[in-house]
Amino acid sequence: MARIADLLAGGRTVSYEFFPPKSEAAAKALDDALEDLTALGPSFVSVTYGALGSTRAPTRDLVIRIDGERPYPAMPHLTCVGQTRDDLLVLLEQYRDAGIQNVLALAGDPPPDGSAPGGDFTYATELIELARSVSDFSIGVAAFPELHPRSPDRDTDRRLLADKLGRADFAITQFFFEAEHYFRLRDELEALGCETPVIPGVMPFVSVPGTRRMAAVNGCHIPAELEARMDAVDGDPEAVRRLGAEVASSLCQELLDHGVPGLHIYAMNRSTSIREIYTALGW
Ligand code: FAD
Repeated sequence: MARIADLLAGGRTVSYEFFPPKSEAAAKALDDALEDLTALGPSFVSVTYGALGSTRAPTRDLVIRIDGERPYPAMPHLTCVGQTRDDLLVLLEQYRDAGIQNVLALAGDPPPDGSAPGGDFTYATELIELARSVSDFSIGVAAFPELHPRSPDRDTDRRLLADKLGRADFAITQFFFEAEHYFRLRDELEALGCETPVIPGVMPFVSVPGTRRMAAVNGCHIPAELEARMDAVDGDPEAVRRLGAEVASSLCQELLDHGVPGLHIYAMNRSTSIREIYTALGW
């Protein structure tokens, strides 16, 4: 399967992100979405990794299955905080042996109760180093247009991000609702001499409280006008989903108009909103 660095070098990518399903019904729904989305010809897909490695086997099995069955690469997300070097080494070797060529190397978050995470790692850069020692993976990392919540200030965030991007092949961003945050990130990285492609992450949301919760955790600003539109549809799941797809479509168009290396769409294991985004973009 292709390396994502090579796909990006060849032109704009479009990718979708999934999470490991938690029930048989959810697994069936994901398979249906995958079938539908495969027809749209994504460049690659990615599968999240539960906090502190809680979905280690489900993420691995899903990635290897999609990568083997579908005509595009599947990339595992992998976090390192709270985990041992030996455990992650085994997992990276399993990916290498299964022919997986791409990895999204993340720090992950410490336990929410504030207890010490333990394990052998603190930062994503340490996981990049470990992955490079195992195989010639194409390695992606996370970027936060509105700054990482644990960053002390803007300059430090950008300096450390530029350093991380110097060791990686590409980045995917946290979701955001205002394109200006992405453009500012891009300008700041350019000013630091960083040319690694940064793919904007776009979320067609499907839940108002869920979106507000995730935005608060990730330091993502929801503009007042969008807050009002969310209030107007809250409680009507289909209207919320349609609003999420509409907002995501406008953001994708604005990003495309200004030139982006790719679009990474948080698919939420569904296909309907992505189909609507494609229609809105005239694809
Ligand atoms: P890092 O790059 O290590 O940065 C974390 C913080 O440490 C930043 O503030 C950074 O500035 C600072 N820092 C970095 N290096 C140093 C240093 N040397 N000295 C001092 N400070 C430093 N989480 C999951 O659990 N599972 C997932 O599947 C998942 N997928 C994600 C996908 C994307 C696209 C994104 C954007 C995030 C994802 N996350 C996931 C969330 C991510 O794990 C958390 O946001 C985590 O807190 C930060 O990870 P990171 O890789 O950006 O960390």
